[in-house]
Parts: sequence; C-alpha cells; structure tokens
Amino acid sequence: MGTNRHGEQQLAFDFDELLREDARAQLHDWTGAPLRFTTAYYPPTLLDEAFEHWTLLNGRFASHARSHMWHRPLWNSDATTFGEHRGALFDVDLSPGPDAEGPGGLLAQMVCEPCNWHTIASSEDSAVEQWHDHAVPEWRALPVIPAAVRVRDGATLTKLAAAWIRERYPQHLQVPGAPIITERQPFATRHVPRYSPWGGYDLSATALDHPQTPSAEAAVRGPLPSATLRPRSAGRAPGRGRGLTG
Ligand SMILES: [Zn+2]
Repeated sequence: MGTNRHGEQQLAFDFDELLREDARAQLHDWTGAPLRFTTAYYPPTLLDEAFEHWTLLNGRFASHARSHMWHRPLWNSDATTFGEHRGALFDVDLSPGPDAEGPGGLLAQMVCEPCNWHTIASSEDSAVEQWHDHAVPEWRALPVIPAAVRVRDGATLTKLAAAWIRERYPQHLQVPGAPIITERQPFATRHVPRYSPWGGYDLSATALDHPQTPSAEAAVRGPLPSATLRPRSAGRAPGRGRGLTG
C-alpha cells in the first residue's frame, strides 16, 4: 500500500474497510473461483464474484492489471443467447506490473454456461468467433453483407439492410441471438454484440479469414499462446500451477 500510516488510520473507520477486514479474516473460507488468474472453467457468476471479492480485499484501483483476473469488458457485459447457448465474454490483463519485467498481455475468454463450455483466446474477436463455431456452427456460410449496403443508421438497422438480410439469410438463422456478417473498412473489424437484427453479433467478414476451431474440446485443451502465459518475475506471478493444467 502506498498510503501513509495516517491515511490508513482514517480508512479504518471506513465501512468498506471494515468489510475488507472481515473478508481478509475469512479468506480461508473462500470457496469460489480462484482469486488469481486461472484457465479452468468457471461459470460467469463465479468469475464475477471472485473478481468482486478480490476488489473488496485489494481495492478497485488498477484492479484489472493487479489481479490478473477475468472480468467483463465494459462495452460487452451482457451475455448473448442463441437457442440453448449463452455466451459471456471475459477479459484478463496479464501484463506485468510496473515494477516487474517480462512478457504478458491480454487474453479473452468466452463462457457458454449451459454447455459448461469455454474457450480462451488471444483476442476478444477470436473468442467470439470460437463461441460462434460452438453455438452457431453454420455461421461461416452466412452471406456477407457488402459495404455498399449501409447496415446502420445510428442505432437502428436501415430498411435496406433489413430487406437484404430477410431475403438472403436462411430462415432458421433469422432467430434471436443469430449473427450477421458485414464487410468492414480496414481497422473497423471488431465484432459488435447486439447489432444483428435479432440481438446477436454483427461479425466482421475478416472473421472468415481465420480457420474454424476444430472442436470445443480442442479450443479448451489446446496449447495457449506460451508468450502470454510465461510467469513474470518471481514474486509477481499469480500462482499459476493450477491455472496451466486446468
Ligand atoms: Zn453452448
């Protein structure tokens, strides 16, 4: 803690600090997801609770970078439901702290709780694509909406795009949570949640350049990018033993 003794004294009377002391005293009773980086499967609520608990113990300041724990991206904190699937996106910041050296970076995870399925990928876009491979295997065959067809006017779908999609998309994939694929400008290739006419993703056509993941199983068990998972300098690494083996 960087605060001086005086500052800490004042905080002791803070209600949050009382809660924190309680939580620290009962840390051995914690039965939720690990309070550190993990590659094991946990349902979204357990990941949320673990991260919340970490911030209670350690404060919110720079909590993403300091905790190395899974948390929901602000811009995409709701899950996407398609049929029996429900995909929730999480990020983790594995970059080394300011006083540590070594490789690190951002990883993304998509969790499909009804299936006990998850995938960990080197980017949010890649995790989203792998979830679609899992939940909507046919998505790669969907028609790409050309850039000439303006899809959105602000927050609303244009009539032109709606008609284009209605005519060309397979009937059974014009359902809640189903994605569309749109041609994009360079550097505007992020997949956007809740932007399909049915509340699914608007996937950038650049996704089709990436090969399909062989199976959900492989996505989970396959090797992770080693550079991002190498432990940082001694003392800063978030207990990794369990994480790497699952
Ligand atoms: Zn699923």
